[in-house]
Amino acid sequence: MKAVISSKWFVTLILCLFLAGFLYGQENSDTSLSKEKQCILVYLSQPDVVEKFGKISDAIWSYAELGLQEFKSSALLIKTLEAEGFSVEKGLAGMPTCFVATYGSGKPVVGILGEYDALPMLSQKARHPKQEPLVEGAPGHGCGHNLMGTAVSAAAIAVKKAMETHDIKGTIKVFGSPAEEILVSRPYMVKAGLFDDVDVVINNHTSSGFSTSYGVRGSAVYSVIYSFTGKTAHSAAAPWSGRSALDAVEIMNVSTNYLREHLHYAYRMHYVILEGGEAPNVVPDQASVWYFLRNTDEQMEDMYERVLNCAKGAAPATGTELSDVRVIAAVHQSHANKALAELMYKNIKLVGMPEWTQEEHEFAKALQKELGRAEKGMPKEVGTLGKPAAVFTGGASSDHGDVTLIAPTATIRFPGIVPGAIGHHWSTVAGNYGSSAWKGLNAGAKAMAATAIDLLTLPDELQKIREEFEEHSKQHPYKSFLPEGTQPPLDINEELMKKYRPLMEKYYSDM
Ligand SMILES: [Zn+2]
Repeated sequence: MKAVISSKWFVTLILCLFLAGFLYGQENSDTSLSKEKQCILVYLSQPDVVEKFGKISDAIWSYAELGLQEFKSSALLIKTLEAEGFSVEKGLAGMPTCFVATYGSGKPVVGILGEYDALPMLSQKARHPKQEPLVEGAPGHGCGHNLMGTAVSAAAIAVKKAMETHDIKGTIKVFGSPAEEILVSRPYMVKAGLFDDVDVVINNHTSSGFSTSYGVRGSAVYSVIYSFTGKTAHSAAAPWSGRSALDAVEIMNVSTNYLREHLHYAYRMHYVILEGGEAPNVVPDQASVWYFLRNTDEQMEDMYERVLNCAKGAAPATGTELSDVRVIAAVHQSHANKALAELMYKNIKLVGMPEWTQEEHEFAKALQKELGRAEKGMPKEVGTLGKPAAVFTGGASSDHGDVTLIAPTATIRFPGIVPGAIGHHWSTVAGNYGSSAWKGLNAGAKAMAATAIDLLTLPDELQKIREEFEEHSKQHPYKSFLPEGTQPPLDINEELMKKYRPLMEKYYSDM
């Protein structure tokens, strides 16, 4: 069986070397197509390889597991990597669904970050351009992390094949990173020393385009649950003997909303009340509110302290106690390395935007029509290399920010999401499955693998990236925002998954 596979691989290699030279050799004269790079492009272009990873991505889409509950998703990726000869350490940094898959030995060590968690309440029928959940209220892949963990595995496997065939020295590591949607895993992975020997890191995200960027992006975050304990009483017969924990939450929220005026303009602050009593005629003795506090790295800790003071002040004002301050996550902004982003961008141009079928354009247009967007179909060109904004005015976050401060890192944003689809929304879930998603993740895998090959085989490029990083580190030495003793919130999505997993099982696209 092994010999059959090898000879098939050899024939494909010979045939495709010619093809690869034709496809990639001409218009991209600034990125020489080395034999190592040809090797990964040829492997990833094989229809059965495209299909294999497409089906893995579709399976993870159907599992739609929330952060720290990604048991089936991480197991599928681990099984895929182990079958290709990676050695995998599991259950790392205090998280059962965190893993590191390694191939090779010695320097340089190239890391690739992979995510696979879903978002709550986004269940949606695949490739259906109208909102229609598979399971009402269940989670869905509204950020494309099903494609990302899969693309990363495909890229690493392709790199391993090139390393074996062409005797490339060094190590490739896949960092299986749970719970990105709740911004949890990377600070714990850094703290556990998982990145200690890593020279450079390739991050990735799904997108409607194909691009990368450098500089500071996204907000730092503290995700915190504030809980208050009061005293219950009959709300009508003896309200004077009660102390309402809900009052404390409301007073805290009034304080923070006044605070907005005096926060630096790059901030974001949003909350949901998790607990606030069960009935108006019983004074609630327990209440809690969950905040996301976002700001620049420089302003973040000051903002955290000032919001904490709002919580502390609400307790004596209402005769209650601030009984718990639980930090769910605390992460830095992303500081993308310019030299690495420039290298990635060459490889993005080398790979190019996938060719979409008529059916894929039609689906995109139907979705765009439903959302009231311009009916442009799928994108035709790769994007430009993104530069940092002149003034940072705030935005979303990713927990890979912490990694960017301990190793040079940049992000390849690869296609697959229909342009105009809304992030963290059913419209993104609808398109993250099937043919266009497969093509997008394949393009992303190629760009990541080609970049990894450059990093393993071009020492001057790696040195340039490292020098920029060392210089940047002098101004931005790493210090975790996590308070001492904070643990990953393993319980946070447990109940939701317990509720929905049995209802979702019949829709699994199992491998
Ligand atoms: Zn995401």
